[in-house]
Amino acid sequence: MGAHQGRHRRVPGSAVDGVDGVRGSAIPADDAPRPPSFPAGGAAGEEPVWPAAGPPWGEEPVVPPAEPARGGDSVHPAGPDWAGGPLVAPAPQSQAVSSRPPGGIGLVWVYPDLLSTYGDRGNLLVLERRARLRGIRVESVHVNSDQPVPRDGGIYLLGGGEDLPQILAARRLRADGGLAAAASRGAVIFAVCAGYQLLGAEFGGEEGQPMAGLEILDISSGRGERRGVGEIIADVDPALGVPRLTGFENHRGVTRLGQGARPLAKVAVGVGNGDGTEGAYAGRVLGTYLHGPALVRNPGLADLLLSWAAGPLEPLAAADEELALKLRGERLAAVPA
Ligand code: GLN
Repeated sequence: MGAHQGRHRRVPGSAVDGVDGVRGSAIPADDAPRPPSFPAGGAAGEEPVWPAAGPPWGEEPVVPPAEPARGGDSVHPAGPDWAGGPLVAPAPQSQAVSSRPPGGIGLVWVYPDLLSTYGDRGNLLVLERRARLRGIRVESVHVNSDQPVPRDGGIYLLGGGEDLPQILAARRLRADGGLAAAASRGAVIFAVCAGYQLLGAEFGGEEGQPMAGLEILDISSGRGERRGVGEIIADVDPALGVPRLTGFENHRGVTRLGQGARPLAKVAVGVGNGDGTEGAYAGRVLGTYLHGPALVRNPGLADLLLSWAAGPLEPLAAADEELALKLRGERLAAVPA
């Protein structure tokens, strides 16, 4: 039996590939995982998953997202997509939030055994790097689909997936309840493609049949006429102050937004949600169709998520941004927009 079996896998650093094989299908649905005991409440002999010195996250005062930048030469024309409501999306159920806790930010990589395609794990690596370069302590855990999702993380990441793993992931996340509980206390959630779809009320299964989602984000997805595959470029809601997004998409799903969510961006090239918008956000929950990985190509989006968890951020030194900006420039130049 592996030393890590039965508890979360702590990720010591970026050199470790924590993606285990798909074990999920062998596990009966009623094999309920043990409840998490965070931060340091493990049984005798068990290492705590998060640093023992850190206080429980979620007890810090509320730090709302930075006031949106208004005016200026926004790329968004004043149209119904952007003008119809408040600039800041409705907050999630709870306002409790982890601002910058002395113990650091807990990064939770949710179900890499089911949800991680086209390099989505790079999103985790980029958050780790951009936090550490600023002296913000981060600890990452990989939580496979046979393990309980901790409720006290700071930022949760979900990647994309094929139709069947997506269905299994949604079923387990619903049964587990940890991700929904984290969302309720104001944790940051960043979800890509299949992960994005399953945050909503429903999504299309392998035959297009409606499958129940987690109802964390006010969206609903179904199956489109054809797959959206290729490079995507989208201009972000100016309220978020993030430059144009570049990414790669590959999905059959199309997504409609409800009143409780705002489009993350407007599509310039590609498909996105299927109606000219791309992704969605509400409070600190943000979903997108962009792989690439999205946070590697779009450091501004990575910093938005970090700032939601840790408060205002210092800019990085130019030398630390060089590679990211080069990649970003190349990807944007590769597609005429
Ligand atoms: N299976 C989903 C779809 O095709 C998600 C795909 C993905 O995550 N890349 O829409």
